[in-house]
Amino acid sequence: MNTFLQVLLAATVLVSSASSSTLRGSTVRDQDESQSHYQRALRELSSFVPESEHHRHLTEETKCRLYLQVIDYPPTEEHPRGYSVDEWICFLRLDDEYNSDIDSSHPLYVDIVDPESVDGNVIVGTARSGFSTLLVSEAILDVKQPKMYIPRHAQVKVVDNDDDDDNHDDNDNDNSAYNYNNDNDSLAAGHISIGHLGTHQDINDYNSNSNNNQRRTSTTSAVTGNLKTLVVRVTAIDSEVTAKPNQLFDNIFTDDSCLATQYKACSYGKLTMQPYKGTTVDNQPINGIVDVKVGVKLAKNDDVKNLQYHAVTETYKAMGGAMPHSEIDLVLFCFPPGSGGWAAYAMVNERFSYYNNEACSSVSAQLHEVGHNLGLGHSGGGKTHYDDTTGFMGESYNEDDTHMCFNPAKNYQLGWYDDKVVDYNPLTHRDAVRTFVVNGVSDYKNSISKANIVVRLEMPDKTEDFYIGFNRKTGINRDTKGDGDRITVVRKEIGLPKEYGMSVKHAALSIGQFHVLENFNNEQNRSIRIKYDTNTNNGRDATITITDITRANEVPIPCAEYVVELKTDNFPNDNSWVIIEDGGTGQSYGANPEYNEKNKLYTTTVCLPYNTNYKFEIVDTYKDGLCCDQGDGYFRALDPDGVQLFAGGSYDPKDFQVEEFKFSVGAGPQNQNQLPTNPPVPCKDRKGKFNWSGNGKKKWRNCRWILRRKKCDKSDKNGKQLWMHCPKKCGRCSAR
Ligand SMILES: [Zn+2]
Repeated sequence: MNTFLQVLLAATVLVSSASSSTLRGSTVRDQDESQSHYQRALRELSSFVPESEHHRHLTEETKCRLYLQVIDYPPTEEHPRGYSVDEWICFLRLDDEYNSDIDSSHPLYVDIVDPESVDGNVIVGTARSGFSTLLVSEAILDVKQPKMYIPRHAQVKVVDNDDDDDNHDDNDNDNSAYNYNNDNDSLAAGHISIGHLGTHQDINDYNSNSNNNQRRTSTTSAVTGNLKTLVVRVTAIDSEVTAKPNQLFDNIFTDDSCLATQYKACSYGKLTMQPYKGTTVDNQPINGIVDVKVGVKLAKNDDVKNLQYHAVTETYKAMGGAMPHSEIDLVLFCFPPGSGGWAAYAMVNERFSYYNNEACSSVSAQLHEVGHNLGLGHSGGGKTHYDDTTGFMGESYNEDDTHMCFNPAKNYQLGWYDDKVVDYNPLTHRDAVRTFVVNGVSDYKNSISKANIVVRLEMPDKTEDFYIGFNRKTGINRDTKGDGDRITVVRKEIGLPKEYGMSVKHAALSIGQFHVLENFNNEQNRSIRIKYDTNTNNGRDATITITDITRANEVPIPCAEYVVELKTDNFPNDNSWVIIEDGGTGQSYGANPEYNEKNKLYTTTVCLPYNTNYKFEIVDTYKDGLCCDQGDGYFRALDPDGVQLFAGGSYDPKDFQVEEFKFSVGAGPQNQNQLPTNPPVPCKDRKGKFNWSGNGKKKWRNCRWILRRKKCDKSDKNGKQLWMHCPKKCGRCSAR
């Protein structure tokens, strides 16, 4: 369940002002004596607050910095890619008066329990992790859990820290026991500095522009720097992390692909992590890793929050005064096994991340969780938060080495490739049709000058921009898990371009394929087509065309429908094919879909222009063909009459790495080789509904439906292909 989205949806209903809002409570707390208040609050919260000796009743206005914590769970039967739970926590500075057994410099991260909301999250409204402050007039704090229970009658307010700056002087004179102090380093810099700098810049831009009701333009701020990183290896009374300290050091700082090396590789040295060097209070030297023992028996208690509380407390004790943000930029807690079925979790725009034993050594878990620290949201797809497996913010893998980077939306946000990023509004650019050369992140340094790593399709009236990139499977990105060597199109679902927010993958295109974005920028019948045209320079340069279909006034290219069938063997990922023009421009006209299921027949239709020679190239990366040691796979091509042109695999059992077949498509029917005479026929879709069914049954549908149901290549009752009724929607127009 996407709690964070729900929070935001609820927030848009609840509040209209973006930065400061009172979520509930309209009366100032009366001055009754505090004991009766406490009893009243306890009564009200009785079903939520367990009995405890560690309760504190907060009666002064309490302020705390709000953070989103994202908990990642490993795959289950119900959730084959895993799932995540979002929770808001609050960062309090404890006063000795309230908690004498904890070092006063020790910050406390408390869960917020709000009986008004189902999941305890609605209370935070429009909060932005690391930038917003929660103010409550009254609460019960359980310092040992730790949790903050907020009674219904309490006043609750969320303010952006930007606004709060005006009130600094007031705060300092405040008697509040839980006042956060902006002069104190450990709190003022309540999130990691790079996230702070990068995001702050954007917020200022956004605020200044929003007065004019305009979208801000992108900034050049980037997530860069050298982060001093501390790994805390936590040992419980009865459980120890499997990896020894020296193994852990290798797995996080020095391996071929690990937290430090892969961030350095993906950012081209702009973001590095260096082991924190210092000493413990006992004068033990620290080189990146500190061992911390906690008095917790996991066999008795598998509550990770309890383990976290003790681990953080003991770490602050062990480090003495060396925990401020100015000293340490990232803290990775490696927990011993036995604290539940979670995989890892992290705070957004803050420096803490937590790993469940094996996850400590998983490079994808490290990059993913620290990605949250740096302000990155998940990369989802069709079904879950993790379905976009092209980069680290999708599913994580228990692997020691994974050479992969991030998807186009994250690449834009991270800002590492800003000199090769373009912001493009296809509706207003002077040309209705534009081509872009797109390179993968692994080619950033050797790309041609006009190539881009990210093309951002700006929607001026909406925040959900689209981002296009080339997921080239090579070099630093050679282990990308999904859609290798494809053009991917992702949309940022929430958040400004450089802010936290989830992205969702909308398309992954092979050569010749296209994707149409309908009603672009909320404009009725305004469609933008993204087509992956060609690939040149040994796989490096992907050329795409972005077309404003409405303005392009296109005419259809006459073509004939051919079919390529491929039945996979036991290794579906080994095979790929492409149909290119033989001679001439070498233009590509079709390519395989992603083959990921074993022993399955895939049917792909390609429309090939008339009067052209073609070459079909099929590749088996394992060099053993499609038949017969590893299953009975095959491939074959059929012409528009269903006649087989060529075939292989079980039709012609042999090993191969590359096979090539040449064929020609002759002149089309009705003199279609003569292109339209002047004036050209405008490329228009048929209006309204028409009977599309080829089997005699009456089925009345419009072109929009035809595209959505992928019926473009079906035939109507007269045998005419449906795309001929709907050339625009089906993308069969060519620019004049
Ligand atoms: Zn996550």
